[in-house]
Amino acid sequence: MSNSDFLARLAERLGADCVLSDEASKQPYLADWRGLYKGQALAVLRPRTVEQVSKALALCSEHRVPVVPRGGNTGLCGGAAPDSGAGNVVISLERMNAVRSIDTTANTLVAEAGCILGNLRRAAQQAGRLLPLSLAAEDSCQIGGNLATNAGGVNVVRYGMTRELVLGIEAVLPGGEIFNGLRTLRKDNTGYDLKQLLIGSEGTLGIITAAALRLYPRADVRAVVLAAVDSPAQALALYELLFAQCGPRLQAYEFFTGDCVDLVLAHAEGVQEPFAQRHPGYVLVELADTADEAALSALLEDVIGQALERELCQDAAVSASLAQLQALWKLREEISEAQRADGPHIKHDVSLPIEHIPAFMVSAERRIRALHADIRPYVFGHFGDGNLHYNLSRPAGAPSDWAARHGEALTAEVLDEVARYGGSISAEHGIGQLKREYFLKHKDPLELKLMRQIKALLDPAGIMNPGKLL
Ligand code: FAD
Repeated sequence: MSNSDFLARLAERLGADCVLSDEASKQPYLADWRGLYKGQALAVLRPRTVEQVSKALALCSEHRVPVVPRGGNTGLCGGAAPDSGAGNVVISLERMNAVRSIDTTANTLVAEAGCILGNLRRAAQQAGRLLPLSLAAEDSCQIGGNLATNAGGVNVVRYGMTRELVLGIEAVLPGGEIFNGLRTLRKDNTGYDLKQLLIGSEGTLGIITAAALRLYPRADVRAVVLAAVDSPAQALALYELLFAQCGPRLQAYEFFTGDCVDLVLAHAEGVQEPFAQRHPGYVLVELADTADEAALSALLEDVIGQALERELCQDAAVSASLAQLQALWKLREEISEAQRADGPHIKHDVSLPIEHIPAFMVSAERRIRALHADIRPYVFGHFGDGNLHYNLSRPAGAPSDWAARHGEALTAEVLDEVARYGGSISAEHGIGQLKREYFLKHKDPLELKLMRQIKALLDPAGIMNPGKLL
């Protein structure tokens, strides 16, 4: 069938308003968020219903047309960008954006895949509940993309990854069959948990069209402290104390080095030096509860007092107002943007058994400095989840193509070190195109074999997001 006949069939089955095929309309759907990958597509489809997704996939399957699912395009691994093959079909979920239900008795929210995460969080908030998934891209990313990447974010230490927040999903399999797994049951021990296969599958097994999510009580009472630490080992000891004494109130436990503070102060507006002197590391801790602000602040002050006494931190600044709380968070939140402003760099999103983070940071730095003594590591991340963004910037004065020329060798060093400590090469961003080579190198061969068998079973024609993940 010719391309124009195929486009005509798509328009006939889905309705012409669902099919974009002129170059100008397709452009916004062809590149990834970072601008690292740009491809081509025969058409971009914008379905409004699960039936339209089903018809589109059935047709693409019949004609062996590669399909690239696309959410908010905030993924950092190039997963939602098509490759250079002119025959791709991109399916954007942006028009499937209805909240189907919010139930404050069962504490569930059912939403279509194209809903923007931030809008869902606000809808839950208005209903008096919390949807705890929270990340800096939440006003652009879609819940379908969050499920497809099993997103993490800042509240994982308390509520877990996306996977743990999902009760059910609706999805369309590559042949067009609709998987009706949109249950809201808390307990359902009836065999294999098939929805979990699609969560984190990065669009390689089917298209998620809706999700049933868990809601929690609103935890609006917040208290934040920024603690200065002399080393990752001290950050780890402080984490143990906070975990033991604050229990489920521990909502975020973020770490960043003193160098990250320098970078933020150099590039971000409205950020202040947190202490009289610079420290090797900082930990940002947030506690949250449903009520009793005074009790929460007293708890935080008590635990930080103990930490100072036991020399588990060097100094501490507790937020006394919402403005101070936001100012402390800004130091952490501006790091990525400051590093971007500093120029091209090499990103790693790794996780480690938390107890090995201090040793990893010493040995990884030794390895990268053996290659380039004056490299500038900027290390920060969700320490409480064992997740570090181990990012490397070029030596001062090096040309801007430095990262592109040395990235591969440096990444090999970092990821080898991650493997040595039993960590993962991708903590929360997934694999996409960016990490595929390292994924294939580091993943256990049996696990890879099983993944390929699952892929072949669900997507025998191999149309779903080719060149990504596997
Ligand atoms: P996209 O980028 O559109 O797609 C991602 C992948 O999912 C692609 O492979 C795509 O094909 C597939 N996909 C998308 N929608 C569907 C669907 N409906 N069905 C099947 N497959 C689909 N991530 C974190 O985990 N934690 C963070 O703290 C975090 N912070 C970030 C901060 C910034 C500033 C940015 C830009 C990104 C951040 N990310 C973070 C990464 C990104 O936001 C997440 O990976 C997010 O879950 C991607 O959602 P999306 O809708 O943008 O998906």
